[in-house]
Amino acid sequence: MKRTPLVIAEYLQQQQAKHLYRKPRITTSAQQPEMVVDGVPLLTFCSNDYLGLANHPELIKAFQYAANQYGVGSGSAHLVSGHNIEHQKLEESLAEFTGRERALMFSTGYMANVGAIAAFAGKGETIYQDRLNHASLIDGGRLSDAKMWRYHHNDMQDLARRMNKGGDDCSMIITDGVFSMDGDCADAAALARLAKQHKSWLMVDDAHGFGCLGKQGGGLVEALGLSSDDVPLLMATLGKAVGSSGAFVAGDHDVIEYLIQSARSYIFTTAIPPAVAAASRKGLELIQTESWRREKLAKNIQQFKQGAAGLGLPMMSSDTAIQPIMVGSSDVAMRYSQQLLTHGILVTAIRPPTVPNGEARLRVTLSAAHTASQIEQLLVALESLNMTQKPEYAIKER
Ligand SMILES: *Cc1c(COP(=O)(O)O)cnc(C)c1O
Repeated sequence: MKRTPLVIAEYLQQQQAKHLYRKPRITTSAQQPEMVVDGVPLLTFCSNDYLGLANHPELIKAFQYAANQYGVGSGSAHLVSGHNIEHQKLEESLAEFTGRERALMFSTGYMANVGAIAAFAGKGETIYQDRLNHASLIDGGRLSDAKMWRYHHNDMQDLARRMNKGGDDCSMIITDGVFSMDGDCADAAALARLAKQHKSWLMVDDAHGFGCLGKQGGGLVEALGLSSDDVPLLMATLGKAVGSSGAFVAGDHDVIEYLIQSARSYIFTTAIPPAVAAASRKGLELIQTESWRREKLAKNIQQFKQGAAGLGLPMMSSDTAIQPIMVGSSDVAMRYSQQLLTHGILVTAIRPPTVPNGEARLRVTLSAAHTASQIEQLLVALESLNMTQKPEYAIKER
């Protein structure tokens, strides 16, 4: 249907009627558990700043120092004159940290995914993606002109069956490392075996595992001990646990050289400010040298999980910082989220199309920056919602 002014006005009305309307909140404080949101002081459980680095004084200092040295704007794309020494140093640190030969920065995770997928898959080829992959991975597949199969969530048999049927045209298997709305992890070792068997690329988007999982904080691939031979395309963001902004793809020398020549979202965009890269590098350093944040995060996750289990909340099976509470319908999820606000707590309701229809949920995320008493406050507020009954809609087979 043509998007006339009348059609879009009706669309907006329908979205409101379906409780699917989206609106940004305005924050007037730094990113941390206690924030001022739309003028109201709130305790927040929805940030991806898993280690509490977004407002860390060392990151701020690194940012300020680089801004004093190099100004604000990078002025142009990396391949023109925008590739500052700070970008270069960050890429080298990322390569070393991930144990890959090289790493390449992108301005956002969305752009890294769209650019990398379209560079590695094209017409006449097939991409296999987990059904619950992040929207940016799905969009990358759409942009690539390749065919796309979305296999059942974490279902290796379904994937193997579909790949066998597909023949030799498979070019990529793509998965979230930690699934962004469910909090569970991909079986990346099994995916690596399938990818090798079919001579196809495996790409893991570890946006939510990087910094949090693995002894050093290298993410899911470190936790599982997977090399670049197993996972040739490792992607992660710098805007979550690293506390900054931007993203990267890490891999072998030629993989990265190939991306530099062909990833359009790398070539045709302005490089992020050098000061942002400097802050990222500091975040990376703190992740490697101060493991206590990961330990604190793990403790917080344990505390919340135990409390939630005690209350009989409809939790999903996740051991990560993402602890969704399954609700079902969007209006009920919105109502719970509103009720939590009256307790001074912000947990966002995640609704379709971010999650499948009938699977709206409260997405609780925990951070190393939360205190035990803040988590207790959340549990007390959740108890008052009387969610202890079964969720309105059972979690459907995926
Ligand atoms: C957040 C996220 C992205 C996008 O990263 P940005 O840097 O925010 O654009 C990509 N993939 C996953 C799984 C994410 O959670």
